[in-house]
Amino acid sequence: MKIEIDKPQNMFLEDIVSNVKGITLKSDAELHQMRLAARVVSAVIELLLESIRPGIKAKDLDGIADSEIKRLGAKPSFKGYRGFPATICVSFNEEIVHGIPGERIVSDGDVLSLDVGAIVGGYHSDSAVTVAVGEVGSEVLDLIEATRLSLEEGISKVVPGNRIGDVSSAIQNFAESRGYGVVREYVGHGIGRALHEEPSVPNFGDPGKGLLLRPGMVIAVEPMLNMGSWRTRVLKDDWTVVTEDGGLSAHFEHTIAITEKGAEVLTRRTHEIVS
Ligand code: MG
Ligand code: MG
Repeated sequence: MKIEIDKPQNMFLEDIVSNVKGITLKSDAELHQMRLAARVVSAVIELLLESIRPGIKAKDLDGIADSEIKRLGAKPSFKGYRGFPATICVSFNEEIVHGIPGERIVSDGDVLSLDVGAIVGGYHSDSAVTVAVGEVGSEVLDLIEATRLSLEEGISKVVPGNRIGDVSSAIQNFAESRGYGVVREYVGHGIGRALHEEPSVPNFGDPGKGLLLRPGMVIAVEPMLNMGSWRTRVLKDDWTVVTEDGGLSAHFEHTIAITEKGAEVLTRRTHEIVS
């Protein structure tokens, strides 16, 4: 989800505080549909992770995801969204998010970010992972692991009574303590009947600020960490977001429901490492 960052950060966070009208609290029935959509998303990601190998084309991964989403009785969230032409996003190396899967062939040493969304009963779920293909250096594995862990840091703050800024700052502090750039222009988001709902969930911010987290809210938290600067630009296809300095980037995302008991990570995968 794209945001404008012309405004000072504190003003941006004030906007989030004031803009509570668009927040939707989900009923149990709505949450049930989102759990089903999330189950499709996590199954598709697991299938993609099994399918990635050197020599496969990005568009083949897209085809695998498209078939599986349909087989499971769901619809893809991204296809046609603001004109996006594919079922999933596949972003290579310095591509951060929104890569359009095409003829590009996956090679040994590539870093692939896969982003999947699915709709069941009119409700979306959204999740992303980054993996290295074959042999890569330890600095690459460290970036991927830090991004995954920064998401877990954020999830640990998704508790009723906390604020969005608690989630944002936990991600930012973790990422920057390891020396990575935290992408500013693209942020997490509320999710439900629409893929992108209020509130925005930035991966940077101040603890104790922003919207109060309440049971019934569902948010997608999605840190994007760069090896170098946080700055980004968009390629001529008008979709693919890349690091301005050409450094590697990684992206992890989960759809999370806030319940009375705490965070329920709807898109958690069966074989996912959590700690
Ligand atoms: Mg996503
Ligand atoms: Mg998202």
